[in-house]
Amino acid sequence: MAKSPAGLPSGASTLNISAAKAKVHAVATSVSRGTATESKTSSNGAGLELAEELNEATRRKYIKGKRLGEGTYADVYLAHLAADPSSLFAIKKIKVQENYKDGLLPGIIAEVMYLQELSHPNIIALHSVFSTKDQNLNLVLEYLPLGDLEMLIKDTTGVNYGPADVKAWMGMLGRAVWFCHENFVLHRDIKPNNLLIAADGEVKLADFGLARSFADPYAPMTHNVITRWYRPPELFYRARYYSGAVDVWSMGTVFAELILRTPFLKGLTDINQLELISKWIGTPTEENWPGVSKLEGYVPPVKEEIVPVHGLQSFMRTFGSAGTAGVELLMWMLRLDPRKRATARQVLQHEWWKTDPKPSRKEDLPKKSGGQKKMADDLKRKGGEVDRSRGDKIARKLDFSKG
Ligand code: AMP
Repeated sequence: MAKSPAGLPSGASTLNISAAKAKVHAVATSVSRGTATESKTSSNGAGLELAEELNEATRRKYIKGKRLGEGTYADVYLAHLAADPSSLFAIKKIKVQENYKDGLLPGIIAEVMYLQELSHPNIIALHSVFSTKDQNLNLVLEYLPLGDLEMLIKDTTGVNYGPADVKAWMGMLGRAVWFCHENFVLHRDIKPNNLLIAADGEVKLADFGLARSFADPYAPMTHNVITRWYRPPELFYRARYYSGAVDVWSMGTVFAELILRTPFLKGLTDINQLELISKWIGTPTEENWPGVSKLEGYVPPVKEEIVPVHGLQSFMRTFGSAGTAGVELLMWMLRLDPRKRATARQVLQHEWWKTDPKPSRKEDLPKKSGGQKKMADDLKRKGGEVDRSRGDKIARKLDFSKG
């Protein structure tokens, strides 16, 4: 198990990708084979029957309730353990009919594969995977009822927060990213909207649909990842070999956004995003980024339009509330040259964590306005909306202190 720098909690896991792959394929196979009767006639009938029994046992463990939201390829439902109605989960029901024509979408495989193996307090937990008779794949996830960081950032009238809170959230994000990288996983879609908040205030990195392993340094990767505002310059230049530095850039833009309470570099197009990077950070050139001109998508700038890389004073004017050490760290995360950018480990070892203010305790962090009330309302409503066929047999004794 990897040890967390600066004594920060690391969770416990090493990656076993092939086992995870085997598991998702086993569930996927049972989905694609349809009913148990059909599977009995297959050459591997006994094995499939057992897989389906196990799948059925897992499915019966959970009672599905109201819909919490809708994502790109899934609906998300509140659920609880059949044996313990106070034990809540979020079930992500993947729309297999739409997504399972030529094999599972890579995003679904990545989500199951990496989440199952990355066990850490700042990464959303995947508890189980099962399929249902309507041929849908269900991911049983940790229930995170307090929204996400984007909601808090945007709610400028309802939510007040300060530098100590920003430091706490950045610490949680930093530990999540460090743990992914230590296990050779790139997240590749870090943004406030993918940072969900648990009932106790802990921030958890979610949505691993674009994640991939970077254990093989010779394997080319796609440059078409990370939401534009959080994407680093090397990906706009179509780099095919990259590292954890892509996630660290995203972390830097999240840090900037937490301070500004609005996205830092809000490009309207990819070209415009590069223009904003040049304007607010500096124009990438051979001088500040040796080798950049060799990247496929690099277009040399017109000499007169080159913006020199901004110094500390310039960044202090915009981000001064983070203090000098905080601004230095931000600038290190946003270095144009990915080789000179901080690693997730260096982020966690930075001076800033030792300077005042200390990070807020998670129980003191601001919550989304009406958050606790909404959660209580969700739980109350749940009683009338769970799967009635089996839900009626269960006493709905809810413990509001858990979540
Ligand atoms: P996603 O597909 O991950 O974007 O999820 C769609 C919506 O479902 C989100 O915007 C949340 O409102 C909700 N949601 C997703 N995951 C969870 C979770 N683990 N706990 C609570 N709500 C969730």
